[in-house]
Amino acid sequence: MDAIVKPAAGPGLELRKVPIPEAGPGEVLIKVHKTAICGTDVHIYNWDPWAAQHITHPPMTIGHEYVGEIAGLGAGVTGLHVGQRVSGEGHITCHHCRNCHNGNIQWCKDTIGVGVDRDGAFAEYICIPETNVILIDEELPEDVVSFFDAFGNATHTALMWDLVGEDVLITGAGPIGIIAAGICKFAGARRVVITDVNDYRLELARKMNVDAAVNTAKEDLREVMQEQKLVEGFDVGLEMSGNGAAFRQMCQVMRNGGKISLLGLGNKPIELDMNEIICKGLTLQGIYGRKMDNWHKMSYMVQGGLDLTPVITHRFHYTEFEKGFAAMNSGKSGKVVLSWM
Ligand code: NAD
Ligand code: ZN
Repeated sequence: MDAIVKPAAGPGLELRKVPIPEAGPGEVLIKVHKTAICGTDVHIYNWDPWAAQHITHPPMTIGHEYVGEIAGLGAGVTGLHVGQRVSGEGHITCHHCRNCHNGNIQWCKDTIGVGVDRDGAFAEYICIPETNVILIDEELPEDVVSFFDAFGNATHTALMWDLVGEDVLITGAGPIGIIAAGICKFAGARRVVITDVNDYRLELARKMNVDAAVNTAKEDLREVMQEQKLVEGFDVGLEMSGNGAAFRQMCQVMRNGGKISLLGLGNKPIELDMNEIICKGLTLQGIYGRKMDNWHKMSYMVQGGLDLTPVITHRFHYTEFEKGFAAMNSGKSGKVVLSWM
């Protein structure tokens, strides 16, 4: 079968013929229909320090955002059948640690990442444990389901807090920030303000009906807050840029008692005014991955009318994957979807 492979330590990816994986006991073979490119895949493509540290066994197939159908069942798998539409949770967990037992599998101490620690989904077929298989309703559009993994990060970050009637600041209008903006509007937030320093992405964010999309390199966020009648500051903050300046600004414009969830991964340590967090009584919550329950919420939000199609800016056949990575690296993209059919 064809697969997009990291051939060796260093930049770039290669389309290669590799064997179709075999579903071992408790595993499910999935025929991939569509995949989406995640920022993590771009790190792996570019071979930055994160990739060099985490991709320890090239050659390997990358990718973890996908939708497809069950093509085979390993020994002992029950309750699933060939032909069912599925996606997959990209974190394979131990099932035995304290967090796995209390339902917080996103904090498993021994997580294995699909497309990072083992072969991924940028291939005609992928094998994953049956416990990671997510059934997907046939009525959901496959282009959107292809990036449910990223939608799950956004869902976990946004739904950490009560959003009804709240004023939300999102820093970072990457695909996940833009999806989070859609979730916040859908969930009943009063004002949703999103910031970035990239006008292309802010324009994309406006398609999610945000109340303001602010380029903080050129505009004064406090003036926007006045226009939006945000007297005491934001109630909820979703940090989705990984940028220290964005996070510091967020802390400054939160109201006392505000709640912040942090998804953005920085590439270096940042400086913080601890007093601001302490004296304002801010609550900070780090977010990793997604809760399993979010997979259900995501399907239901789309069925309930949350339209994420504006986030998709590029569609290519997998043989044109280089164009997809170029679009992601240009900064002028939302989600890039690759078809495997
Ligand atoms: P992305 O890199 O596409 O988007 C980040 C955005 O932040 C970019 O549009 C960038 O222009 C913007 N930005 C940079 N400086 C800024 C500033 N000063 N103010 C406001 N915005 C600024 O990333 P994404 O795919 O949308 O993911 C969002 C973040 O979440 C990334 O940092 C990613 O690494 C991280 N992530 C974390 C997890 C997790 O489990 N914690 C999972 C997925 C992604
Ligand atoms: Zn565990």
